[in-house]
Amino acid sequence: MTPEQQVPLSRYTTLGTGGPASWFAKPETLDELSETLRWADDRGAAVAVVGLGSNLLVADEGVDGLILKLTGELASVEVEGDCLLAGGGAPLAVCLHRARAAALGGLEFACAIPGTAGGGVKMNAGAYDGWIAGVLVRALVVGPDGAEWRTPDMLGLEYRRSALAAGEVVARVEFRLSPRPVEEIKTTVTEMQARRKAAQPTNKRTFGSVFKNPDHELTAGRMLEACGLRGYRIGGAEISPRHANFIENSGDARSADAIALMVEARRRALEQFGVELEHEVQLLGSIALPAAGERV
Ligand SMILES: Cc1cc2nc3c(=O)[nH]c(=O)nc-3n(C[C@H](O)[C@H](O)[C@H](O)COP(=O)(O)OP(=O)(O)OC[C@H]3O[C@@H](n4cnc5c(N)ncnc54)[C@H](O)[C@@H]3O)c2cc1C
Repeated sequence: MTPEQQVPLSRYTTLGTGGPASWFAKPETLDELSETLRWADDRGAAVAVVGLGSNLLVADEGVDGLILKLTGELASVEVEGDCLLAGGGAPLAVCLHRARAAALGGLEFACAIPGTAGGGVKMNAGAYDGWIAGVLVRALVVGPDGAEWRTPDMLGLEYRRSALAAGEVVARVEFRLSPRPVEEIKTTVTEMQARRKAAQPTNKRTFGSVFKNPDHELTAGRMLEACGLRGYRIGGAEISPRHANFIENSGDARSADAIALMVEARRRALEQFGVELEHEVQLLGSIALPAAGERV
């Protein structure tokens, strides 16, 4: 399969910003994925994956490399006994739906995470005391040199991070769940969604948490709120008036606006609390945050 050229990535991110990928492909099977990775390797092209783009900030100038979006078989979901087998591109919402239909509990926390199974592994996503590492048995990681099943330990899953190398693709994921009555699963999900709705912007374009929570009595959100940043705007991007660790796109934001807000937020957190906030959102393309004290 020959990748497409100059595909806009803004439509593949929840914030809705970012320029085009120089190359873009949607492999549907493991064979297609391997073939596409070899294609990139032969050309020395960098490779990255977009899941649902729900924790992704793409450079406005675009990305020089091959961007993959896993579809077809690589986004399918099946239940076998108490295991849920998902393609790396499968939305966690679909995984949760299938688990609930099979009366299997353990993935309820995923109702708060609008990403894919593969993106969830890469980020070790979690919410409400549940996280991917807690239910993951193993993930199939594919690179230009082949494929390997890795356990959570091998994947180096920690708070919102994994040890996946650049260009490695999570193609399949196995979750181990436990039998739970469907009504109980529904009740837990409804409660989690209500808590979420009460605390975070749920009807705006955002990319979830901007910064990881620091080792501090205050969360990143509370810290930025104390810095007076709720509602602070640069260009078309705004620090959410509801939750200061979210950035909203008010319609015409660029990634550069979001970066400028992040720079200001880090500067103020350092000044007021002596804390260097670390970004959770993943940056794609020629886009970087300067050190907390530096101005751009
Ligand atoms: C409203 C909202 C609420 C959120 N709440 C939470 C929350 O409670 N907890 C939480 O943890 N996160 C939360 N997030 C952030 C986000 O949903 C998670 O980080 C999620 O795991 C990202 O998955 P994704 O598929 O969208 O990945 P993307 O955002 O597309 O990509 C994120 C990173 O993963 C990589 N990646 C994606 N797919 C693969 C793959 N198959 N193989 C290898 N690498 C891959 C990308 O290259 C990138 O580096 C929230 C986001 C939003 C918008």
